[in-house]
Amino acid sequence: MNQNWIPVGYLLAAISFILALKLMKSPVTARHGNWLAAGGMFIAIALTFFDEGIARENFGWIIGAILVGAALSILPSRSVPMTGMPQMVALLNGLGGGAVALVSLVEFIRQSSIGADWPIVPLVTTVLSAIIGCISFAGSLIAFGKLQEVLPSRAIVFPGQKAVNLVLLASVAALAVLIVAGKPLVVLFAALVVVSLIVGVSIVIPIGGADMPVVISLLNSFTGTAAGLAGFVLANTALLIGGGLVGASGLILTIEMCRAMNRSLENVIFGAFGAQSAAAGSLAEGKTVRNYSVEDAAIIFSNADSVIIVPGYGMAVAQAQHVLKELMTKLQARGIDVKFAIHPVAGRMPGHMNVLLAEADVPYELLYDLDDINTMFPETDVALVVGANDVVNPAARSDPSSQIYGMPILDVDKAKTCIVIKRSMNTGFAGIENELFYLPNTVMVFGDAKGVIAKLNTAIDSY
Ligand code: NDP
Repeated sequence: MNQNWIPVGYLLAAISFILALKLMKSPVTARHGNWLAAGGMFIAIALTFFDEGIARENFGWIIGAILVGAALSILPSRSVPMTGMPQMVALLNGLGGGAVALVSLVEFIRQSSIGADWPIVPLVTTVLSAIIGCISFAGSLIAFGKLQEVLPSRAIVFPGQKAVNLVLLASVAALAVLIVAGKPLVVLFAALVVVSLIVGVSIVIPIGGADMPVVISLLNSFTGTAAGLAGFVLANTALLIGGGLVGASGLILTIEMCRAMNRSLENVIFGAFGAQSAAAGSLAEGKTVRNYSVEDAAIIFSNADSVIIVPGYGMAVAQAQHVLKELMTKLQARGIDVKFAIHPVAGRMPGHMNVLLAEADVPYELLYDLDDINTMFPETDVALVVGANDVVNPAARSDPSSQIYGMPILDVDKAKTCIVIKRSMNTGFAGIENELFYLPNTVMVFGDAKGVIAKLNTAIDSY
């Protein structure tokens, strides 16, 4: 094959990645985006086989590795529950980072065995991609272990931890300088790999399991950056552009998630959020909770003209999206206006609620963003909160001492009646109590979201 076609194909692949990202902006087109990106990746991989720089005798190994990787990932990716998606992403991301680090290591050993002088740019990029790839690999595996509860999910902290981390980072920098400015010895590179792996572990263990999605998004950005650098090392434009896109989009996502929680990235990484909880019972003193039965709730719906449904993490845990869709259909059949309010960080990963509601075929045009829906709550008869907690906590608006003060929330308390479905008075992700549950216009219906809504669907028919 004429080698000039390869960069043209890579350019096509890069264009498809960019268009795919654009399509992924909306749940309506996200699936097409995935297919387009996969198509671009297929072109990039296929063309690489025609690159004359790749030794033909290694084709068997390469194809074998692709087949083994594909076989190992198909089953878990099809069977993973939506609530397990963050750890799945962490694992796959970690493997990506590890692969980049291995490419750098192999390339370094190969160049060293040739013995020729390395130009500075490839040498620096090889060193950087090894460092970032190793940090991403080790950090992502720790994140996976915490979320899968193979490791303790709480923040692991010890005295002098920051000093230890500083010494480790300084060692990485010193080794990198020795390799680049001194002699590029394999033994130094191996030491760099080992210390970078330790850094990956040490920066993620002090972060509480609940903050992991943000950390995973950041590590994802690291892997993309490392892959982009590996594109330099291997002189592969598709890898360079693809890695750059992952690095940039991961960073944007990280910033967006922090913004939606009104927290700085520094606070997520060093703040040990969720490690402490508010004094139990402090809010409850002298206050009552209106504990309603499913039938009582059904009566409220029978008198309503408008309902806004607010799903949260509990809907994902209960897998209540299908019964919720059924409820939506029943309410609409009675002429009730139904809308869904989607908070940007409801659930445990970006787009969590959108994906689940799309799975249940809830029409996309009924899903409203925070800014659009908040003005509608005061005119709404019923705000139905399904397993959401932090994203509807009025303390974010009114209590400057609250951990979540300043985080934009859905103003469900402004609706005429707020019905909250959850199993207990337990706190959510942030570990703080919620004043909403004690407000005079709030009623609680305790139970698993799926079970409660299924019963509500039956009860509604009687009123
Ligand atoms: P929360 O974690 O605040 O609350 C979820 C609530 O669901 C819990 O209080 C729990 O109460 C209830 N619940 C759990 N299981 C069930 C069940 N089977 N049936 C009914 N209820 C159930 O969730 P939110 O969605 O309100 O908020 C998300 C939080 O996650 C925010 O603090 C956000 O900052 C954070 N976060 C989000 C990320 C994202 O990208 N989406 C990333 C990182 C963090 P009970 O046990 O009483 O049932």
